[in-house]
Amino acid sequence: MIPLHEAQSHVFERISPLRAMALPLDDCLGLATSQGVHSEESIPPFDNTAVDGFALRFEAVSGASAENPVTLPVAGTIAAGDPPRELPQGAALRIMTGAVIPTAADAVVMVEDTEEAAGGVKVLRAVRLGENIRTAGSDIAAGALLFPERTVLGAAHLGVLASAGYVKVPVHRRARVGVISTGSELVDEARALRPGEIRDSNRHSLRAILSTAGVDVVDLGVVPDDEDALRSAFLGAAAEVDAIVTSGGVSVGDFDYTKKVLRDISKGEMRWMQVAIRPAKPFAFGLVEGVPLFGLPGNPVSALVSFELFVRPAIRKMHGHADLFDPNLTVQAANSYRRHPDGRVHYARALLSAGPDGHLSVHSLEGQSSHMLHEMARSNALAICPDGNGYTEGEMVEVMPLGPATAAR
Ligand code: AMP
Ligand code: MG
Repeated sequence: MIPLHEAQSHVFERISPLRAMALPLDDCLGLATSQGVHSEESIPPFDNTAVDGFALRFEAVSGASAENPVTLPVAGTIAAGDPPRELPQGAALRIMTGAVIPTAADAVVMVEDTEEAAGGVKVLRAVRLGENIRTAGSDIAAGALLFPERTVLGAAHLGVLASAGYVKVPVHRRARVGVISTGSELVDEARALRPGEIRDSNRHSLRAILSTAGVDVVDLGVVPDDEDALRSAFLGAAAEVDAIVTSGGVSVGDFDYTKKVLRDISKGEMRWMQVAIRPAKPFAFGLVEGVPLFGLPGNPVSALVSFELFVRPAIRKMHGHADLFDPNLTVQAANSYRRHPDGRVHYARALLSAGPDGHLSVHSLEGQSSHMLHEMARSNALAICPDGNGYTEGEMVEVMPLGPATAAR
């Protein structure tokens, strides 16, 4: 067995960010910038009002109060989107949020601080120079760096880029990832099972979890435990996608051909690993015509845990992210986790939750066998238990939160 970090380094060293290119803004969610991105425009582009109210000269209402209001004539109304106007001497202009500040105005008084008056507006409060004015460039100055290289683009980033007039953004392109289930026992049709058959669940879980990682998923079906069929499936996939994710056939069974075929076609670049973790001990990785192939174990829980430890971070690297993992948390154990020393770090399916006091704690679930997918479906975290006899309730435990399972694009 090899330690997890060694297996991970082996994989991540062989993964590179995908080609940098300019992609349409709305296709960039979750991708990382391939260079620093600057704003050519000021945001906001002009001085505008932050409130609905009256544009005026602050000196015209100095000393105004509820007891001593100042009444000004109203020379008109300015809506957001109207062209710039001039404020007449000694008057106010009614103005709506986002509208251009008229020339010669230097403050805006809120509607709430005024009253209607015959022939004008009664101002009940003095305002400071510049009050309620959002000045041009106060969010972003023209020429400023919006985001440095390798910034992962989320919803607010895309909004910032749209505000600055970006239609295309320089990013590392999105990966296309193929998914293959291997196993002669697998059925993916709506029919009764024959003796010895089981239904293919991994391809569906893996398609879903891959979409949460932001890739374009390509379903490449089920392939039986047959060397020729596997060889042609892997070579065919390599011609089509940027990475291949398979499940099954990487253990030590007589018909575990994934690793054998991968060794043959990856020109010595295949590495079969027994990783010192539980679940997800067996794992194979190789390059098929230069395309990384992740050979995940067949047991459904193992496949998903292996995905989190190897595939999701590798996709982040392909997408140009600087951080391959989200930070783990250290929280109090809500129950004990008993185990025996076996040389492996356990990743126990667990529930992370906040108590009434707001403190997080982790509760490890009952079913910890690697075929118990239903228990995995109940969990939202993996409690990390180092080799030994486990931990007891109340101890501090490291947990790996599992991201929102429904964050599909
Ligand atoms: P393997 O790694 O091929 O030895 O498979 C380990 C276990 O996982 C066996 O019980 C398989 O039947 C099961 N298994 C393999 N692939 C899948 C799959 N796609 N869906 C559900 N179970 C699977
Ligand atoms: Mg199998």
